[in-house]
Amino acid sequence: MGERYDLIVIGLGPAGMAAGIYAARRRMKTLVIGRAPGGTAATAHLIENYPGVLATTGLELMETMEKQLRGFEVGVEVDEVLKATRSDDGFTVRCASGVEHSSTSLVLATGTEVQRLGVPGEKEMSGRGVSYCATCDGPLFRDRTVAVAGDGNRAVDAALLLSEVASHVILISSGAISADESLVARLDKEKVEVLEGSRITSIKGDPLVEAVSIEDADGTRELAVEGVFVEVGSMPATEIASSLGADTDRSFVVVDDNQSTNVQGLYAAGDVTGRWAQVVMACAQGAVAATKACGYIRKCSREGR
Ligand SMILES: Cc1cc2nc3c(=O)[nH]c(=O)nc-3n(C[C@H](O)[C@H](O)[C@H](O)COP(=O)(O)OP(=O)(O)OC[C@H]3O[C@@H](n4cnc5c(N)ncnc54)[C@H](O)[C@@H]3O)c2cc1C
Repeated sequence: MGERYDLIVIGLGPAGMAAGIYAARRRMKTLVIGRAPGGTAATAHLIENYPGVLATTGLELMETMEKQLRGFEVGVEVDEVLKATRSDDGFTVRCASGVEHSSTSLVLATGTEVQRLGVPGEKEMSGRGVSYCATCDGPLFRDRTVAVAGDGNRAVDAALLLSEVASHVILISSGAISADESLVARLDKEKVEVLEGSRITSIKGDPLVEAVSIEDADGTRELAVEGVFVEVGSMPATEIASSLGADTDRSFVVVDDNQSTNVQGLYAAGDVTGRWAQVVMACAQGAVAATKACGYIRKCSREGR
């Protein structure tokens, strides 16, 4: 059995770290648990819209945030929460390490999980040329031809990063590119070929990726590539929220302006709430969630709960 806390925060991305900082400054006994420090933000190639910080990599921004968090009196554990339960005196979380912790209040800052393409060959070649993180795996494709699947900021961000290492990048978008114009303008036209209105139908190779089949208005064809970066979006990580009885809407956790869910003592912040997937928003929501949770914890303490 682990320890009893005032507040447990699940997620070590921007929302979870901000929540940890705000709760620790209010002298709450706080534990922040996450699979890996940094969350999705750490995979961003470039972050230039977080006020107060000049253009930087997501990894650098999140390393600074983690350092700031660890500077406060707060528990930080790299672990996965497998299950959370509600009881009369609060919440209990069971971690993959086997430890169980309990708390009066809980903040869910679990973010999102990447979405798959769902085409033949994707699963088999995951880790053999199919990747979901250009920042992590991009350097392995130096001087190779790679494909990026997707149309939004995430896909263009990956294409930008990959164009610095790969010899040729093919950005394959089923519709029109919908990323911010400032990002699209940065694409190196010499190196990045954009195929709009094209759909990857399968990924081929044995044992490593050798080609993708695509379908467009002209029919189907094969493109020789050695890497496929899937950047088609993400789904909110709401398993824990749902198991605790939190309401969801279109898969996102429903919260009010105080980041409160419908479950007493349970708050949610960041991308899992689907408000607006940005670091500045995640941090703001994390700060509000922790502050409101602290108020709830104090009330429970006054009432002897
Ligand atoms: C390629 C890319 C580029 C981006 N660029 C920008 C940008 O330039 N500017 C900007 O503002 N935003 C950008 N974003 C968006 C930004 O990264 C997200 O909005 C932000 O990370 C959301 O923070 P979060 O804390 O809600 O979730 P996340 O950062 O996703 O963190 C959630 C964390 O919770 C963990 N977790 C989930 N379930 C569990 C569990 N059961 N147990 C333990 N841990 C768990 C996850 O592993 C993850 O580490 C970008 C995103 C991507 C993918």
